[in-house]
Amino acid sequence: MAEYSALSLLKNAFSGNRGWKPAWRKASPKPAYDVIVVGGGGHGLATAYYLAAEHGIRKVAVLEKGWLGSGNIGRNTTIVRSNYLLPESIRFYDHSVRLWENLSHELNYNVMFSQRGVLNLAHSPAQADDYIRRGNAMRHEGGDGVWLSPAQIARYAPGVDISPSARFPVVGGLLQPRAGTARHDAVAWGYARAADRLGVDIIENCEVTGFLRDGDQIAGVSTSRGDIRGKKVAVAVAGSTGRVMKLAGIENLPIESHVLQAFVSESIKPFVDCVVTFGAGHLYMSQSDKGGLVFGGSLDLYNSYAQRGNLPLVEEVMSEMTAMFPAVARLRLLRSWGGVMDMSMDGSPIITKGPLPGMYLNCGWCYGGFKATPASGYSFAWTIAKDEPHPINAPFTLSRFERGVIIDEKGQGPTPKLH
Ligand SMILES: Cc1cc2nc3c(=O)[nH]c(=O)nc-3n(C[C@H](O)[C@H](O)[C@H](O)COP(=O)(O)OP(=O)(O)OC[C@H]3O[C@@H](n4cnc5c(N)ncnc54)[C@H](O)[C@@H]3O)c2cc1C
Repeated sequence: MAEYSALSLLKNAFSGNRGWKPAWRKASPKPAYDVIVVGGGGHGLATAYYLAAEHGIRKVAVLEKGWLGSGNIGRNTTIVRSNYLLPESIRFYDHSVRLWENLSHELNYNVMFSQRGVLNLAHSPAQADDYIRRGNAMRHEGGDGVWLSPAQIARYAPGVDISPSARFPVVGGLLQPRAGTARHDAVAWGYARAADRLGVDIIENCEVTGFLRDGDQIAGVSTSRGDIRGKKVAVAVAGSTGRVMKLAGIENLPIESHVLQAFVSESIKPFVDCVVTFGAGHLYMSQSDKGGLVFGGSLDLYNSYAQRGNLPLVEEVMSEMTAMFPAVARLRLLRSWGGVMDMSMDGSPIITKGPLPGMYLNCGWCYGGFKATPASGYSFAWTIAKDEPHPINAPFTLSRFERGVIIDEKGQGPTPKLH
């Protein structure tokens, strides 16, 4: 596979762009692999890439029931950040930001990582205290949380209504300057291409329908394209975790599936050049390079595996959007869509060996798995290759729920719909 470079761009421009090769092979399943990764989303593809790149394990298959990018990796609102409170989370997500910073170079694929900053608005003194505490915790871990006054916010994000007559007056905001956005589907394509170059088989339209066993040991998978044996089987299917793990007889995971919706407006001139979150509700917004405002809110309240949302949430998000940015009230909405979220019972992910011998599980990403894609793939690959967690994912094993050592970042707890 040719290297992408300024020279190859130029050469192809002069030959009518007919020289480009597909970014990855259309691999067919082989009878056996060292590692089978179930799920060709961001996390599955990143895992396969780091298995090959960091651990030299190249007999790897990624099995995807649809096409790459059809799941949440192609449905999210692209925010990348590490503005957490608890040290375990800050370390994990900061590791991810550091991998993001070099990702386009490492993958030889432009994932359009843009460190435009993420600004969390506060609307009451109590909320300001909460965010200042979070910023202090971030700085304590070597991170970059900065408290901004309303006047500083007016300069940093001029579209925000900071007037005292605003429906929810802004008292300040926590800014993470190194946070930002990346192009979501480019992340899937970049990892897929880089993994393929290292020999990983990426097999689309291949649904896992069951697990093969040698006694207690998971020994492979049954798929819509036949049985495939694997010394190790890694599951990274995000919102489908409950359904896929049920095929292995596991029905008591601390996960619920809920739909999260997102929206994009018609394109407008540059309006806001950072990501802004509205502290008086569940709303966040950024502007894409094409000019559309990309925004989302909270979960739909019921459990579901359907990739579509409901209207009450649309109404709620629109009312929050116009409260925060009155100037957008007459903008037209272009598209909305939904994705199925794997909500864990403490709001933090699970990256673990088990729960069955020969199996490894990556799930529980809630609203925030896109930003974790590099660190998730990196630490999951480590766990699979070495049969022990990397220090950054050691706190995130499944056993934390048995031991009562939960990592509750956002008061999500066992009722995700209350969050
Ligand atoms: C609307 C929305 C907005 C979001 N915004 C953000 C954000 O701004 N920032 C952020 O960090 N996170 C965000 N997220 C969360 C983030 O997108 C997810 O946490 C993350 O993408 C999940 O990991 P993944 O990419 O591997 O999932 P997916 O892309 O969903 O990958 C899982 C794959 O498994 C496949 N699969 C399922 N069952 C099977 C089977 N039986 N056999 C084979 N394959 C199977 C699916 O087809 C799917 O492709 C958002 C999510 C949504 C829906």
